[in-house]
Amino acid sequence: MSTDTAKGVPGDAAVNELEAALRGTLVRPGDLSYDDARAVWNGAHDKHPALVVRCAGAADVLSAVAFARDRDLTVAVRGGAHSIAGFSTCDDGIVIDLSPMKGAFVDPDRRRAVVQPGLTWGDLDHETQAFGLAVPGGLVSTTGVSGFTLGGGVGWLLRLYGLSCDNLTAAQVVTADGRAVSADADEHPELLWALRGGGGNFGVVTSLEFRLHPVGPQVLAGLVFYPLDEARQVVTRWRDATADMPDELTTLLDLTTAPPLPFLPEKVHGTRVVVVAGMYAGPPGRGEAAVAPLRGLGTPVADLMAPMPYTVMQSLLDPLWTAGAHNYFTSAFVEPSDTVLDTLLRLHLTTPTPFSELHLHQLGGAFARVPADATAFSRRDASVLCNVIARSPTAAGFEGHVAWARAARREIAAHGDGGLYVNFSGDAGEDKVRAAYPDAVYQRLVEVKDAYDPANMFRLNQNIRPSAGLTATVR
Ligand code: FAD
Repeated sequence: MSTDTAKGVPGDAAVNELEAALRGTLVRPGDLSYDDARAVWNGAHDKHPALVVRCAGAADVLSAVAFARDRDLTVAVRGGAHSIAGFSTCDDGIVIDLSPMKGAFVDPDRRRAVVQPGLTWGDLDHETQAFGLAVPGGLVSTTGVSGFTLGGGVGWLLRLYGLSCDNLTAAQVVTADGRAVSADADEHPELLWALRGGGGNFGVVTSLEFRLHPVGPQVLAGLVFYPLDEARQVVTRWRDATADMPDELTTLLDLTTAPPLPFLPEKVHGTRVVVVAGMYAGPPGRGEAAVAPLRGLGTPVADLMAPMPYTVMQSLLDPLWTAGAHNYFTSAFVEPSDTVLDTLLRLHLTTPTPFSELHLHQLGGAFARVPADATAFSRRDASVLCNVIARSPTAAGFEGHVAWARAARREIAAHGDGGLYVNFSGDAGEDKVRAAYPDAVYQRLVEVKDAYDPANMFRLNQNIRPSAGLTATVR
């Protein structure tokens, strides 16, 4: 590296000084661990940051933020590194990697957990299930708690206990001006509101406090596979069944291709199928009646719905979602009318790879009872969140797969309010980020952005632009 410069790519002396100030480690190009340190889950993003600061705690975050601010460096913030848009890496700038920060403190009496931002859902479930408790998490255990929660957090406990962000009660944040602030209902309440669905726009979150709920250890959960020739009947019956389900049961309809796995009959391997997945979060014995309709949507080719540990359900899909493949997600909130279901079934027949699929997340229940102004995530009256997924093991043809997903989303979103879920999205761009939030919510997010990051230092995210526009020179 060149000698130190006041602005831009830092020289050796400045980097050495930063390194000396850290309890964690600093990784730079040429280091043996550089390729490991720069890797993110989504293989579609192959970036080369100038520095990766692997933070051991909030003190390291403060040092890294000050270093980046003084040099106008591009800043990527990383929790679990699962950003679909690749926001947790960058070329030439600095990655503030929080993944080494894995502390978790569970208080079963107060039903609260205070956790550091490097935890995955697998890590956090491990800690909380020891007490028979859980924070509503996601469908894949390798996903990071922090990025997931800041964008919203849709999972199997959504209808019983809401989104992950609905259960975020406090957070500590390092802001762009180098302060460490605590946000809760009394202090910096607008910041806490914005962190509950507004993404990583407002600073680096160094700890999160969550409400805990009793869950498991056993739940009734799993998947039921139906053949393509019953698809119309299955999706219609699923839609009708969701109108009258207990909050304990949250379901997902997956229009996908059957993987060549031993629990599926060989005749369906590689064919398009309809899968209904779900979890009943109350006592499994009571769940049998609730899940019975999911088994009667047609003639199942495989019924894998059974009592299992909550932690098993939380990682059941992990083998299908390994790191390194090329991925693009986009999404829309819809009402599952006959026309929408027909559209989805037609799109199911055009998925570009066997790994590409359409997920219909059932909403409602506790999710819908959260007042629309309580969190920045505010699409509370939608019935279904559709996630359009283009996934391919290699880069070959990937641009075309992304084009398929975008076109599919356009068709689906035409039947809804045009909104999307920021966590189920590639780089949405300004117009779609605006559309992700109702106008009044977006405006409120801009006000919080103005208060905590007026120069848009934290802009590698589904970006809420401050009203002053881009005043920082970001490299
Ligand atoms: P990262 O890439 O580390 O972070 C993403 C962004 O969040 C960062 O760029 C940054 O802007 C911000 N960020 C992260 N941590 C912090 C922090 N501590 N402070 C400030 N900003 C921060 N979503 C669901 O709702 N439900 C699901 O079931 C679900 N399943 C998924 C499964 C897979 C395999 C994948 C890849 C994604 C899934 N998602 C799901 C989407 C997921 O919510 C987002 O990808 C989320 O951003 C992942 O968080 P992370 O910490 O792993 O990501």
